[in-house]
Amino acid sequence: MVAAPKSVEQLTEAEAVAELTRLADEIAAHDIRYFQEDAPAISDADYDALKRRNTEIEARFPHLIRENSPSFRVGATRAEQFAPVEHGVPMLSLDNAFSDEDAVEFDARVRRFLKLEEEVAYTAEPKIDGLSCSIRYENGVLVQAATRGDGRVGEDVTANVSTIGEIPRRLKGSGWPETIEVRGEVYLGHAEFAALNEAAEAAGQKTYANPRNAAAGSLRQIDSKVTAQRPLRFFAYAWGLLSEPFAETQWEALAKLKSWGFQVTPQSERVQGAKGLLDAYARMEAERPKLGFDIDGVVYKVDRLDWQQRLGFVSRAPRWGIARKFPAQQARTVLEAIDIQVGRTGALTPVARLTPVTVGGVVVTNATLHNADEIERLDVRVGDTVILQRAGDVIPQIVRVVPEERPKPEPAPFEFPHVCPCDLKTEVVRETTASGAETVVRRCSGEFACPFQRLAHLRHFVSRRAFDIEGLGEKQLTAFVERGWIAEPADIFRLHAHRDELLETEGYGETSVKNLFEGIEARRTIALDRFIYGLGIRHIGETTAVVMARGYGTIEAFLEAMDKVAARDPEAVEELDAMDQIGGAVIDAAAAYFAEDHNRRIVQALKDELQVQEAEKPKTDTAVAGKTVVFTGTLERMTRDEAKAQAERLGAKVSGSVSKKTDIVVAGPGAGSKLKTATELGIQVMTEDEWIAMVGG
Ligand SMILES: [Zn+2]
Repeated sequence: MVAAPKSVEQLTEAEAVAELTRLADEIAAHDIRYFQEDAPAISDADYDALKRRNTEIEARFPHLIRENSPSFRVGATRAEQFAPVEHGVPMLSLDNAFSDEDAVEFDARVRRFLKLEEEVAYTAEPKIDGLSCSIRYENGVLVQAATRGDGRVGEDVTANVSTIGEIPRRLKGSGWPETIEVRGEVYLGHAEFAALNEAAEAAGQKTYANPRNAAAGSLRQIDSKVTAQRPLRFFAYAWGLLSEPFAETQWEALAKLKSWGFQVTPQSERVQGAKGLLDAYARMEAERPKLGFDIDGVVYKVDRLDWQQRLGFVSRAPRWGIARKFPAQQARTVLEAIDIQVGRTGALTPVARLTPVTVGGVVVTNATLHNADEIERLDVRVGDTVILQRAGDVIPQIVRVVPEERPKPEPAPFEFPHVCPCDLKTEVVRETTASGAETVVRRCSGEFACPFQRLAHLRHFVSRRAFDIEGLGEKQLTAFVERGWIAEPADIFRLHAHRDELLETEGYGETSVKNLFEGIEARRTIALDRFIYGLGIRHIGETTAVVMARGYGTIEAFLEAMDKVAARDPEAVEELDAMDQIGGAVIDAAAAYFAEDHNRRIVQALKDELQVQEAEKPKTDTAVAGKTVVFTGTLERMTRDEAKAQAERLGAKVSGSVSKKTDIVVAGPGAGSKLKTATELGIQVMTEDEWIAMVGG
């Protein structure tokens, strides 16, 4: 058992810093496993819980939000897909100021450093909450665009940036330097954001939490045609590499950028002295709700560029500029009800229904309460007056209850339901992580039988690494589930009963129906590991499914063992535990799954429709038996899946990441960091041809 982490409310600032660092690293590692290796190590719900904790800490300590915060990443870094670009001049970030005193001190510091008695002129510009970009122009023509990345090296997003209407492909007017890196923020306006989410929701796709995430996600599309359809916008406000100077002040520079065809924020102004800084902040704060896009503060810069030069940098931040951040926005309202929502993984999430209230210009009617522990911690009850907070435009949350305003007589504490609203009457269980620790999340154990989870489970069932049924994608599946034709996996193999109705459905003709049924029939014979993986048992991913399939050999042996594991038969539990990489979390998950009557019935019904192939026992007499192999880069003679399957057949273990335990790295063209790590660790590296020669394929 791992001790429950300290609640966000109790964290000290130092602990919050440490937690945010840890979460950023942990989430980044999971992103790599998920996006680059297609091999998630934890469930979506566990992943979401990590992200949520990160967001909660950030909401409480907005000034601690890291540059590499996981909240800024949607879809994560898909390395090896965007080429790295080294910025001509690093993209640095400004120090933050949080109060009037900080702003006054900034002005005093500038004047002290320059030994000035006179008032200093500054620019005050709204700080756009988007994604920083650097766009390089040669002879007035856009040649390259890069994300900020770590400030030194970003990602090449030229194709995508080129689709943004507000970014000129060719600079207008004249007087631009031969080479210039124009810098600014790619963002989405509120109206565009709402429209984008509405369309995503209508299409059954994932919606974005806020405009910044949506902008980041849109800019990092692999297919620039998708980016082109997103209404991204851009404000220019700075520059990096220059072949020659083009202005004497920041103010003049902004005017020049505008004359070359860029949008610059119309709210920017040139102000005098400390008082000017404070007035500008107050004005911007008042205007904020009406802007139509998110800003999270005001950026002050010393206007004269020669003075900026003299001020230079302290460590990594310039002395000549500072970002004054807005505080988190709070409002008071009444909690009218607590509803329970069931997520696609069966997680039960309490949602607060609120008397509508405007926070930071946005009408809020719901707030997440996260989980049962959060409700208990807040001691929030229906009828309570609560303090609501939006920070950095994350989902609003309830910060605390106003105890003096609790209605009389006191409402009863909220009782978290013990059954899912799906009414299967299955027990609501506490979720565990892969390491077996109990989490604060409660979930319905209905799986395929729970209507809230059914579709997600079926999607997993037909997914590429499970049953991989051609012609039965998410769209078709959703439609068939809605029509009641498919409620559990076995129904897919009985879909032919609806053949005539299907033929009458728009979009289906003789050919497509024939193809669909052929796709389904082709999977009536299935490998045992795909069968196991397709069941969607928590913590039983693809690798574990392969291990179990090899361990049990036949479907009959597998099912018999599962019944015994569910009954906690010591011998069966021990047998499973002895399998490679299988531990308590897998055993518990398998036991819980097969302890449910509905699951056993569904699995049996599925089995009755299929021919499940025997799994091959791993070989022990090959050149690679027992070795750990990593494939990286592009393979040219086989697909990644084929390579993996072949290696495993020959008794090798295939891993997604290189470590000291790796024996062989097979590197194709374009291999990046994994190859580098392998070389550093002195691990045997071979080409695809050498590998094939060795395994005799
Ligand atoms: Zn349920």
